[in-house]
Amino acid sequence: MKAAYIKEEHEILRESLRKFLEKEAYPYFNEWEQDGLIPRSFWKKMGDLGCLCPWLDEEYGGFGADFGYSVVINEELEKVGTGLIGIGLHNDIVVPYLEQYGTAEQKKRWLPKCASGEIITAIAMTEPGAGSDLAGIKTSALRDGKDYIVNGEKTFITNGIQADLVLVVCKTDPKADPAHKGVSLLVVEKNTLGFTKGKKLNKIGLHSQDTAELIFEDARVPTDNLIGKEGEGFYYLMKNLQQERLIVAIGGIAASERMLKITTQYVKERKAFGKSIASFQNTQFKLAELETEVEIGRTFLDRVVDSHIKGEDVVKEVSMAKWWITDLTKKVAAECMHLHGGYGYMEEYEIARRYRDAPVSAIYAGSNEIMKQIIAKKMGLQ
Ligand SMILES: Cc1cc2nc3c(=O)[nH]c(=O)nc-3n(C[C@H](O)[C@H](O)[C@H](O)COP(=O)(O)OP(=O)(O)OC[C@H]3O[C@@H](n4cnc5c(N)ncnc54)[C@H](O)[C@@H]3O)c2cc1C
Repeated sequence: MKAAYIKEEHEILRESLRKFLEKEAYPYFNEWEQDGLIPRSFWKKMGDLGCLCPWLDEEYGGFGADFGYSVVINEELEKVGTGLIGIGLHNDIVVPYLEQYGTAEQKKRWLPKCASGEIITAIAMTEPGAGSDLAGIKTSALRDGKDYIVNGEKTFITNGIQADLVLVVCKTDPKADPAHKGVSLLVVEKNTLGFTKGKKLNKIGLHSQDTAELIFEDARVPTDNLIGKEGEGFYYLMKNLQQERLIVAIGGIAASERMLKITTQYVKERKAFGKSIASFQNTQFKLAELETEVEIGRTFLDRVVDSHIKGEDVVKEVSMAKWWITDLTKKVAAECMHLHGGYGYMEEYEIARRYRDAPVSAIYAGSNEIMKQIIAKKMGLQ
């Protein structure tokens, strides 16, 4: 069943993106996984195709695309591999902060390059000592004339190594009570004195996604780089984190559908006891159950996306979709790997990579426990 928000024009983009990815991404993806990076040239080509921030206004290099296009782009990238999530993060998570809360001057300066692929962005919330507890971050940005002096450390930052521009979540008022009222968003550009990129982190999965530590030691950042108002960063995050979680849920469903597709194909071809693996009742029941759950997840997700496009309050539903779908993705990965037998454990089989990549979706963008906390709060359970 096709989602109501997917129209002919979305399918046209899907088709041209698919053809592009068949030529420019699928043949190279294993190489990128080994290199631990998506090359900049690929970002540029995505920009040329109109698939970087297409939702931006024409004056900034977009075509005013609705969120349906973002869904299509994220789905098609996910089919290649979850390691491409850094592009979705740039398109639908970081750049929206610049567009929604930036000044006219900031937008003119950064947005066209975000759409062309000349600027790669990252968002730095997490610190070694604070992940789920976002208000507990320690990175400070204290005013000194026309600059902020930034000190602190961030970790697990997607696109961290390649980023030209990092949206840093910091405390402009470290003594604020409650703590979240001291949080602000500051753009730190590469080559800023006192800003260094630490090591590229060695992960068990998402090998092609660049994930890094960022260090700020008396980094001098112009006050002109403040996004929105001082002390309002936490409110911007609470609003925009909904789309971030939606992007993770969309990736989870697309990954699950892909795993079911390759596994269904595999069990039809593989034989044991003179029959195909697909002919065993256990295989049929397992895959039928997973197909049902993925379809249920897809239907719910489409409803939430539709409400998000209409601008409705979807905090509770997004939290539900994020935890339920990413838990399902982990289950699909484990069951599908098992149905591949020993081959599923071999690196050259796609299902092995998917099995490594799936679990993090339940951790980032707010762990699944945090999602349940939000739902419970919305239910009046405090
Ligand atoms: C590959 C990868 C990419 C990432 N990309 C980014 C990025 O681009 N930018 C960024 O800022 N961050 C990023 N992160 C960080 C990610 O968002 C955090 O890891 C996540 O929010 C969890 O924080 P933590 O790791 O500090 O875990 P912790 O907060 O220490 O949590 C540890 C465990 O305790 C549980 N827990 C915590 N609090 C509660 C509670 N109140 N009740 C019940 N259980 C609880 C958690 O669910 C988790 O299971 C990335 C992480 C990874 C692994």
